Amino acid sequence: MGQLREVTVSALLPMMANVFILVGMFGVMFVLNWQLALISLIPLPVMWLSAKRSSRLIHEASRRQRTREGSLAATATESMSAIRTVQSLALEEGFSRMFRGNDGQAANADMNTKRLSAGLERSIDLLVACATALVLWQGALQVIAGSLTAGDLLVFISYLKNSMRPVREYAKYAGRLSKALASAERISDILDESPDIADRPDARSAPAFRGQLAFRNLHFAYEDGARPVFKGLDLKLDAGEHVAVVGPSGIGKSTLSVLLLRLYDPQEGCIEIDGHDIREWKTASVRRQIGLLPQDALMFAASIRDNLACAAGRKVSDAEIIEAAKLANAHDFITALPEGYDTVIGERGATLSGGQRQRLAIARLALRRCPIVVLDEPTAALDTESERAVQQAIEVLVKNRTVIVIAHRLSTIVGAQQILVIDHGHAMERGSHAELLAHGGRYATMWKAQQQARQWRV
Ligand code: ATP
Repeated sequence: MGQLREVTVSALLPMMANVFILVGMFGVMFVLNWQLALISLIPLPVMWLSAKRSSRLIHEASRRQRTREGSLAATATESMSAIRTVQSLALEEGFSRMFRGNDGQAANADMNTKRLSAGLERSIDLLVACATALVLWQGALQVIAGSLTAGDLLVFISYLKNSMRPVREYAKYAGRLSKALASAERISDILDESPDIADRPDARSAPAFRGQLAFRNLHFAYEDGARPVFKGLDLKLDAGEHVAVVGPSGIGKSTLSVLLLRLYDPQEGCIEIDGHDIREWKTASVRRQIGLLPQDALMFAASIRDNLACAAGRKVSDAEIIEAAKLANAHDFITALPEGYDTVIGERGATLSGGQRQRLAIARLALRRCPIVVLDEPTAALDTESERAVQQAIEVLVKNRTVIVIAHRLSTIVGAQQILVIDHGHAMERGSHAELLAHGGRYATMWKAQQQARQWRV
């Protein structure tokens, strides 16, 4: 944006003014001596062609430069946001090599743009010098022949010199303009990027959900031609029902929440809430009523109070925030912090333990009052003690809500009322833990395998 503003103010306006000056100057020169004026025009087509070619090259080089600078910023942001992982895996050297590589490429691209701009300016200087030499030579012949006085020739040369100033400035600004156009194109590329999931033109705001949920004949692949994750999956939950979803790794358990939150749409089939296809409603109004508790909830570098309040989607009182924190087993650890609810937690909640972050995330969900909750194994990364505190909070949170529990470890869902086994893109089996073991199918095999693995570890 800075490049664009600078060019509009400092290049575009002077360029337009220069066109008028040039036309005026040549008008006077034609009146003074039309033959010499015609000779002065000879280099102009060459100048124009040279400026056109250089502008194109500068434009391409500037686009490359912007792309390189984008990669540079992405590497810096990624390494800083995952600084703990970078340090603990001793990736500093690798990241700094990657950064130096991107930085070098950006610097090369910048150098290339500057070299092209300087080349354009020098070639225009050369052509101006040629034009002046031609006029001098022809003018001298006319002076010798007596058809022009030396004084008129001097006046003409001074006009020629002044008229060439706008041409040289044009060369200077043409480079800047090409660079700015490249910046503008990148901005418009980003602005033109349409969201993958757009609301239908007739989409309405979703009413308050009762919580009945159905995945109907769901066919889904992340990309065209990619291996399908679901090939006709059916799953139905009554309002307030809890279902645990299990299946081998990479089978699509987390993808269920991705589709429910409309981060992607299925290629075939639909997801219904209270009997309506969720695409009938505005996506934001659907998402507001669905709570996702992932394995490692994201916190922001703000106070605990703001972290909790921002998720509510409405104005919340301090009393409500404290009530939600108590429900989530978080009130005691928050009040033990030096500044209580005003304590600012580091970027991504880095100053809190994993269990504390998860309890804050539960408090956030409690404030959101969402009738449908997806738990994507929120205790997977915790030790036994934290797991117990988080589990207790979850048990209070999920009361009277429709809940999908995505389970990567079977031991966490033994007590679930209903377990759904997904495999090969379909819902294969459904029942309680005891029923599925008695059935002796896919679930029973997975359970035996996990039990054996635990025995080996003991
Ligand atoms: P796990 O138990 O290991 O967490 P999962 O059952 O939750 O696995 P998903 O995360 O839903 O599995 O992934 C299902 C499939 O979709 C996997 O093959 C995965 O590689 C693929 N996948 C997941 N996310 C994306 C994505 N954003 N783009 C393309 N493919 C993806």
